[in-house]
Amino acid sequence: MNRCTSVFEALAQARSHIDARIETEILLAHILKKDRAFLFAHPEAKLSPAELAHYQVLIAERVKGMPIAYIIGYRPFWSLTLKVTPDTLIPRHETERLVEIALESIPNEPHQTLLDLGTGSGAVALAIAKERPTWMIDATDFCPKALEVAQENARRHNITNIHFYLSDWFLQLPLNRYHAIVSNPPYIPIHDEHISQGDVRFEPQSALVSGEDGLESIRHIIKYSVDFLHPEGLLLLEHGYCQKNKIMSILSQLGYQNIKCWKDYLGHDRVSGGIRPITPNE
Ligand code: GLN
Repeated sequence: MNRCTSVFEALAQARSHIDARIETEILLAHILKKDRAFLFAHPEAKLSPAELAHYQVLIAERVKGMPIAYIIGYRPFWSLTLKVTPDTLIPRHETERLVEIALESIPNEPHQTLLDLGTGSGAVALAIAKERPTWMIDATDFCPKALEVAQENARRHNITNIHFYLSDWFLQLPLNRYHAIVSNPPYIPIHDEHISQGDVRFEPQSALVSGEDGLESIRHIIKYSVDFLHPEGLLLLEHGYCQKNKIMSILSQLGYQNIKCWKDYLGHDRVSGGIRPITPNE
C-alpha cells in the first residue's frame, strides 16, 4: 500500500488477508472514526500514512486471531455500546435473550431488587438497569479488572442504579434478599474443543469454563440463590444448549417451583429458571 491509499484500495488489500469483508470494514471505520456507511459513500477518501499504518497493525492482529471486539475495544449489546477488554467475555447476542426474559418475567414494578452474578463487562446488569431505572441492581464479579470495565460502562452510559461488588459469586456479598437473580455464568465443560477454537481462545477461561461437565458454577448458584431470593423470587440462568435437562433436574431436586426453559433466537435451549423453593419454617 502506498501513501495515497484510498478507502477502496485499503479494503481490497486487506481482503487478501481476511475473508470477512465486514471485519475489514469495521476495523477501517474504527480507525477513521466514521461509521461503515462512510466507507461506502466515500471509497475514494484517502488514508493518511498514520491511518494506513494503524490499519495494517489492526489487520495483522485480526490475522493472528484476536477478536474484533478486543481490537476495537467495544461491542454493541442491547441498546448499549459496551467497552470490552480481554478481562471480560465478549457479550453474545443470545445473552440479550436473558435480558429479554428477565424483563418479561420480573414484574415491572418500581424498586424491584435484582442481582447479576458474574457481570463481566456489565452487559446484563446494564441492559436491565437501563430499561428499569427505578430497580436496585447489584452486580458481582470476582475479577477486579472486569469489574472496573463494568463500572466504566455504567459511568459512560450514566447508569446509576447498579452497585458493583468484587465477589466470588455470593461470598463477599452482604446478605440481601432479591426479587430476582440472573446470571450468564461459565458453562462450558473443561475438555470441550470449542474452548481452543476461534475467538473464544482469547477470552478469559474463567468466564467460560466450569468443571468437567460445565455445570459447577450453575450448581453453586442454584444452591445458594435460595438464601438470597425473596420467597417467590425468580432465578434465571443462561446455559449451553445441551444442558437443559440437567439444569431442570438440579432446580427441581432443590425444590424450585414453576421451572421453565426458554429458547434463544436460533431455537436452542438457552435460559432456565424457576421460583425459589419454600424452605421449612417459612
Ligand atoms: N455462549 C458462550 C460460548 O459458547 C459461552 C458463554 C458462557 O460460558 N457463559 O462461547
